[in-house]
Amino acid sequence: MSAFLKLLARNRLALGGLIVMGLVVALALITPLLPLADPDVTNTADRYLRPLSDGHLLGTDQLGRDLLSRLLWGTRLSLGVGAAAAIFAAVSGAAVGIVAGYFGGRTDNLLMRGVDMLMAFPYILLALAIVAALGPGLVNALIAVAVVNIPFFARNIRGITVGLAHKEFVDAAKLAGMSHARIILSEILPNVVPVIVIAMSTTIGWMILETAGLSFLGLGSQPPQADLGSMLGEARSALITNPHVSVIPGFMILVIVMSINLLGDGVRDALDPRLKSGALSRPMAATRVDRRTRPDREIPTEGLLSLEDLHTQFHVKNRVYKAVSGVSLSVKPGECLGVIGESGSGKSVTALSIMGLVASPPGVITGGAARLEGRDMIGAPYPELRSLRGRRVAYIFQDPLATLHPLYKVGDQLIEAISCHRPISKAEGRAKAIELLKSVRIPNAESRIDSYPHEMSGGMRQRVGIAMALANDPDVIIADEPTTALDVTVQAQILSLLDDLRRERGLAIVFITHDFGVVGQLCDRVAVMYAGRIVEQGPTRPVLDAPAHPYTARLIACVPELGEGKRKLEAIPGLPPSVDDLPKGCAFADRCVKVQAGCMVNDIPLERAGARAVRCLHPETEIAEETA
Ligand code: ADP
Ligand code: MG
Repeated sequence: MSAFLKLLARNRLALGGLIVMGLVVALALITPLLPLADPDVTNTADRYLRPLSDGHLLGTDQLGRDLLSRLLWGTRLSLGVGAAAAIFAAVSGAAVGIVAGYFGGRTDNLLMRGVDMLMAFPYILLALAIVAALGPGLVNALIAVAVVNIPFFARNIRGITVGLAHKEFVDAAKLAGMSHARIILSEILPNVVPVIVIAMSTTIGWMILETAGLSFLGLGSQPPQADLGSMLGEARSALITNPHVSVIPGFMILVIVMSINLLGDGVRDALDPRLKSGALSRPMAATRVDRRTRPDREIPTEGLLSLEDLHTQFHVKNRVYKAVSGVSLSVKPGECLGVIGESGSGKSVTALSIMGLVASPPGVITGGAARLEGRDMIGAPYPELRSLRGRRVAYIFQDPLATLHPLYKVGDQLIEAISCHRPISKAEGRAKAIELLKSVRIPNAESRIDSYPHEMSGGMRQRVGIAMALANDPDVIIADEPTTALDVTVQAQILSLLDDLRRERGLAIVFITHDFGVVGQLCDRVAVMYAGRIVEQGPTRPVLDAPAHPYTARLIACVPELGEGKRKLEAIPGLPPSVDDLPKGCAFADRCVKVQAGCMVNDIPLERAGARAVRCLHPETEIAEETA
């Protein structure tokens, strides 16, 4: 509960809504205790007194009744009726929805068609018809407003219940022999309550307005009883001559509805666990950039793609996750750079930052540059980024099933990848798609082009993913663990395919993996990442033969090799540090066997010597000697 309040309080507008609403409700509650004039006593001698007149703080209305008193009593009534209507609609709507969704079949059909019938009438007309049938009066207005809102709740809740009714935990409850009533109460209801509360918090303002509307038309509260709607209705005739009589209740309605809506939005955000992390909020088209210093827009660089001191963070609530802190890399045409590290070391975030693909919020690029032929792409205008994505820098993602759209044929998806960047005729697109599928060695490309992703094996889908990355002849391919989901034979095929491509087309490849075996097969150079930083970098062979950083050495020791004879495979004990609370000095220190006191004092610089570099005070091998 306190966590909920804290979340709510972080949303300023919602907090404002909560405070205003709290004040209004408190006022409405203590109204009977206040020394107010009787709201219904008329005094025609004092008609239309202005606000701040003697004895009438807000003036009087057309019958000389005290406006302050009527306003407070009216607010009390309007709030009460609105809330009662909302609760009534929510409870009956949710009951209908849960029963329909849980039992399904004929019950569902019957109930939902009934709801559909309610929905078939125009909203306000239905409310008017109900009041006309029941007769004017506040209670009848309440019933009318509640009834017309039932379908909204019923439909919402039914949809969610249908999804829940087939979940394993409901099956488990059935297997345990629970009765339907008990399953609904203990398994389904707790899961839909947040939705009911959310739907209520966003509709209650609306219902207050509707009740006020009916009262305005004379169908709700009956004279002399005041509610906000009837006060407005009665003041209508003197709108021009004595505006305060209508402005005062009108303003109160505005304040109430606005604060309820702001509060409702806040409640919805605070209750939904998925919104808490910002995961559901629509990500921006490109990662947010917030750099202290601005690197030069364009400078000559040696590599085709080069990262300079890249920093990417996730700002979640008041924590800062430093996923990437100061990574510099570069690849030349025809070169393959391996990026290796344990899960969570920042490899994917580094790769995604290049084209601004890290989701924002919560991602923020806080420093550095990512240059394609010297031109910094971080913070580049979106159209420019879009034209580069896929055309010059292409990605292959880890999970091909998640990358391919399940409802489109793979051929159409390939053609779409091409047509995004240049106009292409249908026949031409198809021919190109077949050619691409052939180039990644998919058998029967001509017929496979019309397959859906689920009709292919994992290896084939991965190859389609690669074909898609190749569709626009990119200069750089960033492959993010493309073979982790595959068996070893397919993995070998894909590696040799990528290898051929870079030789034939001069592709630069950034190959992300956690497997040193793969790096050895494919990469010219390798960069080892740990806790968001590069700890060792250099040509693959020397690094493999004589790793300098203890972490690299441990990673290599994790790879089994055939024909090596008996060797103990050692896992690295402990876990990588959490990147929102990095230790001082070397991040690997507490898992390192060679750790010494000095390791944990200051930041360790990346020491360079020739082509190699290492971030360690006590390396396994001195790299300087080797390259000297
Ligand atoms: P990997 O090297 O396995 O690809 P990632 O680059 O995906 O690792 O993640 C790097 C770090 O960033 C991890 O510690 C992870 O916890 C953190 N991270 C990634 N996405 C988010 C996010 N949306 N919010 C907070 N932290 C994140
Ligand atoms: Mg990853």
